[in-house]
Amino acid sequence: MKDCCSTPGLLPIEQALEILKNQIQPIAETTRVSLEQSLGRILAADIIAPFNIPPHNNSAMDGYALKLSDTETKNLLPLAGKAFAGHPFKGTLPEGHCIRIMTGACIPQGADTVIMQEHTEQKETGILFNRLPQKAGNNIRKAGEDISEGTRVFTKGHKIKAQDIGLLASLGIAHLCVYRAVRVALFSTGDELKAPGEILRPGDIYDSNRFAVKAMLQKLGVEIIDLGCIPDDPKKIRETFLSANEQADAVISSGGVSVGEADYTKDILNELGKTTFWKLAIKPGKPFAFGQLPDSYFFGLPGNPVSALVTFQQLAAPALRYMMNCHQHSPLEFSATCTSPLKKAPGRKEFQRGTLTIDHNGYVKVETTGGQGSGILRSMSMADCYIVLPKDQGGVEAGEPVNVQLFDELLL
Ligand code: AMP
Ligand code: MG
Repeated sequence: MKDCCSTPGLLPIEQALEILKNQIQPIAETTRVSLEQSLGRILAADIIAPFNIPPHNNSAMDGYALKLSDTETKNLLPLAGKAFAGHPFKGTLPEGHCIRIMTGACIPQGADTVIMQEHTEQKETGILFNRLPQKAGNNIRKAGEDISEGTRVFTKGHKIKAQDIGLLASLGIAHLCVYRAVRVALFSTGDELKAPGEILRPGDIYDSNRFAVKAMLQKLGVEIIDLGCIPDDPKKIRETFLSANEQADAVISSGGVSVGEADYTKDILNELGKTTFWKLAIKPGKPFAFGQLPDSYFFGLPGNPVSALVTFQQLAAPALRYMMNCHQHSPLEFSATCTSPLKKAPGRKEFQRGTLTIDHNGYVKVETTGGQGSGILRSMSMADCYIVLPKDQGGVEAGEPVNVQLFDELLL
């Protein structure tokens, strides 16, 4: 591949993603965590079901268990005993009898059907069945109907969700082998930046990128090393780079990657490591930089708040997922009718922000959030999707179809 940094022109995002995929080495170290600590972690081994779920045929209702063919000649059966959850009926159902059964209780041997309590009446001599099914098997949850023994329940690389913890608990799994968490160091650069809570001097603004990116890193499930906000001072930025590189597997900065006189990030990256690519054919987010430091990968997000979030989500997050060994799920992309005209010049792929609705005929519509400047952070907060406009396309007329990409887990 040609070195993009020494050639004029902007790198298409598809090529940038391909480079990230080829260059990123996943973390190899694994660790053992308890089930309770496993939310958001990445499995380092497949999970095979050690037994059936449910482990035994059991009742889906409170009612009576019987053998349906016993009701062919009579619909009143004497009671032979009880089966409760955790207290199975011992022995076999005697012919022509029924057994009181509760939800979750094992189906007694010899019974093939459960009749719900609401369809019965208790009489002195037994239980009267007012409504009987045509076929045996009603209201029985079969052993293994959820998961049968030996099933590969999850594969290596799966990110543990809340519902997965329930499933793993039902399999009796108390500990899991997961990849060690990826360590990410984060800092923002800019003399004008203050942290919320501090007092603004004339010309200052609050640092929003570090907080938003940190929130997305939390959602990704990495270990975060927050190095704060660094002034536009090459010496201080260099020190921060070195400290970040020492502590982390990946380093993320925001600001200072453009061509301004106080933009030192890229020079220091080149001095301490190397730039793999810089300047992408996307909007927002053109001045995104990716490179290598001696012991870590480097992602330089642009300073403009929308650019920082879009490039983090579109480029840095997939790269971090590779490092985490996490399965990648492409964001859901589909066509929608654009209700408003959109401005666009050919040359860069755009990620405009939109909101989705479904009209009364079931058609999906997308509306722009308004101003699309890379400093208009409200456009991200209002949106639930990107309106993805191909690189070579121009503006869009109201009523035309456009491709939309649903915000993923990091932004929703
Ligand atoms: P830069 O990329 O450093 O030239 O910054 C581009 C624009 O983004 C400038 O208007 C900065 O003030 C603004 N900016 C840079 N970093 C941040 C940040 N962390 N939070 C909010 N705005 C920022
Ligand atoms: Mg700056």
